[in-house]
This record gives sequence, structure tokens and C-alpha cells, in this order.
Amino acid sequence: MVSLDDLPLRDDLRGLSPYGAPQAAVRIALNVNENTHPIPEVVAHDIVTSLAEAVLTANRYPDREFTELRESLAGYLGHGLRPEQVWAANGSNEVLQQILLAFGGPDRSALGFEPSYSMYPILSLGTGTQWISGVRDDDYALSAHTAVRQVREHEPNLVFLCSPNNPTGTPLSLDTISAVYDATEGIVVVDEAYSEFTPPDLPSAVTLLPGRERLVVSRSMSKAFAFAGARVGYLAADPALIDALRLVRLPYHLSAFTQVAAIAALRHSAELLSVVDDIVVQRDRIITALAELGFSPYPSATNFVLFGGVNDQNAVFTELLERGILIRDVGIPGHLRVTAGTEEETSEFLAAMTEIARR
Ligand code: PMP
Repeated sequence: MVSLDDLPLRDDLRGLSPYGAPQAAVRIALNVNENTHPIPEVVAHDIVTSLAEAVLTANRYPDREFTELRESLAGYLGHGLRPEQVWAANGSNEVLQQILLAFGGPDRSALGFEPSYSMYPILSLGTGTQWISGVRDDDYALSAHTAVRQVREHEPNLVFLCSPNNPTGTPLSLDTISAVYDATEGIVVVDEAYSEFTPPDLPSAVTLLPGRERLVVSRSMSKAFAFAGARVGYLAADPALIDALRLVRLPYHLSAFTQVAAIAALRHSAELLSVVDDIVVQRDRIITALAELGFSPYPSATNFVLFGGVNDQNAVFTELLERGILIRDVGIPGHLRVTAGTEEETSEFLAAMTEIARR
């Protein structure tokens, strides 16, 4: 049997294991920050009708520029954004990869403030970009001062700002983002995958785009939109930056099916996003209840909660799994992360945690 070691693999990939959160067939999956509400049936029917039409012309390549989807996304984002300022790919992971392919690479570096989204270093490695692991302030906050100090020290070609931050849930102020932008000549990526869950007083970094041609705001349909399975991520940036992404994207990277499904879903954004308010209620309920049980949940502007004060995180993780509840060990000692699900799922999780805490 041939193993990976027998193959002429790139030296920098030797000995590594692939990324992946455990995927298990469980009753209650609260581990990867999906929207756990299924797509409403009327919306699903409309999506299927669009897909059925697209099948008839699947002998042809899709629109390489996905013009109609970009128009829909620009309309959804608002703030007067034009379609030429919007780009999309198969999940925001691919959006981030395209940014790194265009602006990272050998002899270039990317800086992020950890703990943060675990794919940033992996995507950097995959594109031959040096990853620089920056630090945060107390309680995982990131002040302009702390971020700028590290940007000045390392002079990276790209800076990743996760807003709000995964896995900690921490919001990020526009002050920190604009201060980082002013401190670098590189690309500043603001990852707003969880934007729809943030409080209204925390504006999107999209509002900072005018006059900032090196700023990119990435978004995802995988979270609030309940569309993780369709794989649609997108970004807003200066049209010139999007021209750079055209140099590295695969031709026809967004299938005809992805395009029409996303357009149909965006037609129903009000219905799909109608559960966001309840998810936020469940998130805040988790924070209050876990604190009452003696754990240390962090404030969250997302659809998940990181909590500390877990003596044996393996034992708690396993005990929940035995009850059919899958949450996430994000590798921070004494901490676990849970996604806010439906009211019933949240109740089951909290009931299990109550029993675990009482023992
Ligand atoms: N950014 C952040 C911060 C995330 O948490 C995730 C998903 N976990 C992504 C990007 C990627 O999401 P997707 O590729 O599904 O759009």
C-alpha cells in the first residue's frame, strides 16, 4: 500500500493532517455554527424550480461572471454597493483562498489575531503564504492599539480581522479596522461571516469601503442564511481588487446550480433571516444559563458561545455526545464552543449542562 510519505509531496505539507471538524450523525449538531433551522418549504420549492430550469441548459458553461447573482448580492448588502464591487465563490473559504492566491504566496505573509478562525493559517499554508500568529487583548478583545502594534512590527502583506471573531464571538470595532488599514500597505480582510447576528449598533465594515481600495469585506450564506450546504460566500471590495481575483479563480468556478440556487435564496432573504432574532435570543439564553451554572461564557455577537470554566473539556464533550449533542472543542484548554440552535435544541443542551454541572 502506498502512503502519503511515498509521494513527492511539497515539503511544507509533509506530516500535516487535513482540517475538519468531526462530522457525526447526531441528533443535535451544534458544532459548526450552522443555522439549525431547515429551509422553509415554500422557499425550497422556489429554489427547486430555479434548479429545474437550470438543468435544461446545463450542457453550457455557466455565466463566468455570475452577473445576476452579483446584482442580487449587491442588493442584499445595500449601502449603495454596485454589482462590480461584489464577488462570490464556493463558500467564503474559497473567497479567502482566492484573496490569498492573488495577494499572498511565496515571500509574502499574512497576520491574524489568535485564537481566530482556524482556516486562516491553513489557507495561508496552502497558498505558500507565511502565517504570522498575532495576539489579542484580555477576554479576546482586539483594540486598535494592540492590532496596530503587531501590524507595524510584522509588516504583513495581508491582515485577517474576523468580525465578530470565531471561535470567541467577540465583536470588533470599526475603529480597530480603520486603524489597521491606516497602519499597513497590504490587504485588510474583514471576515463578517456572522454579520447578521451582530447588534444593530455594530455597523458592517462595508461602510468603510469608500476610499479604501485595499479593504475586503467577506460574507457567507452558510450561517444566518441557512445555506451552508449550497456553498456560497461573497465579498465586497473595490472593483480593481476583484480584477485581481479574476487572475486566480478557476474558470466557471460557480456552477449554474449554485448561481440559481443562491439567487432564489436571496429572493427569500426575509423568510430565511426571520429566524435570526430567535437564534440571538437562544444565544443570550445560553450565556445567561451557563453563567448561572458556574461556567464562564464570553459575550457573543454571533450565533455561538465560547465558554470557559470547564474542568475536563473532554469529559463534558463526550458526555454531551453520548446524549446525541455535538458541540466543539476549539483547542482552548478549559473551554468549549456551542452553536445556538432552535429553542428545543438549546433547551436540551442546557438541560444536559445543568446535569453535568450538578455532579
Ligand atoms: N469565516 C468564518 C469566521 C467562519 O467561521 C467560517 C465557517 N466556519 C467561514 C469563514 C467559512 O464559511 P463558508 O466557507 O461556509 O462560507
